[in-house]
Amino acid sequence: MAWHLARQGHPITLIDPGLEESVKRTSGDGNHLTGTHASLGVLMGNVFRRSSGRGWRLRQRSMALWPSWVCALQRQEPELILKTPLLQLADGDETLGRMRKLADTRSDCGLSLLERHQLQGVWPGITHGGLLSERDGRINPLMLLKALRKALADLPVTGVAAAVETISRAEPGQGGGWRLGCDDGSCLHQDTVVICAALNSPALLEPLGHPRPMQPVLGQALRLKITSGPTNWMSWPAVLVHRGYNLIPDGHGHVLLGATVEPGERSEPEPLQLMRHLEDSAPEWLRNAKVLEHWSGLRARPVERPAPLLERLEPGLLLATGHYRNGVLLTPATAEWVEQHLEDSLSMMSKS
Ligand SMILES: Cc1cc2nc3c(=O)[nH]c(=O)nc-3n(C[C@H](O)[C@H](O)[C@H](O)COP(=O)(O)OP(=O)(O)OC[C@H]3O[C@@H](n4cnc5c(N)ncnc54)[C@H](O)[C@@H]3O)c2cc1C
Repeated sequence: MAWHLARQGHPITLIDPGLEESVKRTSGDGNHLTGTHASLGVLMGNVFRRSSGRGWRLRQRSMALWPSWVCALQRQEPELILKTPLLQLADGDETLGRMRKLADTRSDCGLSLLERHQLQGVWPGITHGGLLSERDGRINPLMLLKALRKALADLPVTGVAAAVETISRAEPGQGGGWRLGCDDGSCLHQDTVVICAALNSPALLEPLGHPRPMQPVLGQALRLKITSGPTNWMSWPAVLVHRGYNLIPDGHGHVLLGATVEPGERSEPEPLQLMRHLEDSAPEWLRNAKVLEHWSGLRARPVERPAPLLERLEPGLLLATGHYRNGVLLTPATAEWVEQHLEDSLSMMSKS
């Protein structure tokens, strides 16, 4: 978002305690990663079940914007690509029926139905077919973060490596706007503030009279080494989705598998087992795979409100967070939403 806004010429101050930490996925120390570091970067924009409403529009907009984002960011990370396609396997007649309906109505979005005989090379023994989405797929979230960090360095962006502890309204006599108290003792004054601190956002919003509770939903993922079975992934899509889990080829003989959806912050070993064996439908090669990496992260799920939270709370105070399971997918559309509301807010301020 900071990158997008700075590219439109807005002077940006980016405040985040993780700004000076290197972009990597450290696992095994018991800490949860931020949503973006933990994410698998799966972009499921066109296979969304609904065909109308805000969720559908945001997904469609993001999918339309991603190619130009990737193209611009490749200057920083030439290997950043949007890998396609995405294949969802059906696990029964009901799912297959739903997929057939989507394929029939969304062929213009790149959806088509594959029969089971066409999928034997990917998932031998599959009893039903699957839905192929030509334009959905995956972006590597760590590479994306690295590209954004590098791109920010060339733009009018001031980085502050601190956590915001308080946000308060500045009196008109003090120039209006907002005062931000940070955990390093600094106090910043800004005309406009965009809150996007995931699970830490409610604590900043509550004292301002904008309760927006969110609950953590844990996700675990694995990087596996295949010891028998497919290794070159030639016949594989960029993302294979089976029983709600994603399988992502990650170089020769490696695959990413995730992610669990576990309410709360404590990781349960059982969902991880379930994921590894895909509820008993995993092929032999997946059962035998060796775990190389195991990590977890927290998703921010708004309570009693649909994700994401995109709101203009007050003049100069925007909220853009709570993306729950689709924050990477919705990044470009979120940035565009903020840009539009920021510009409205600036034109109102210049008139008053
Ligand atoms: C295991 C897992 C797999 C996922 N897979 C996918 C996927 O395949 N596709 C997809 O689209 N989404 C996926 N998601 C969801 C996605 O990762 C999130 O929706 C998205 O990354 C949220 O981004 P964010 O920037 O809002 O939050 P985060 O990435 O959590 O970042 C929040 C930032 O706010 C900063 N911050 C916190 N408190 C403060 C404060 N007080 N002051 C200043 N800064 C603060 C933090 O340092 C952090 O940098 C997954 C999530 C998990 C956990």
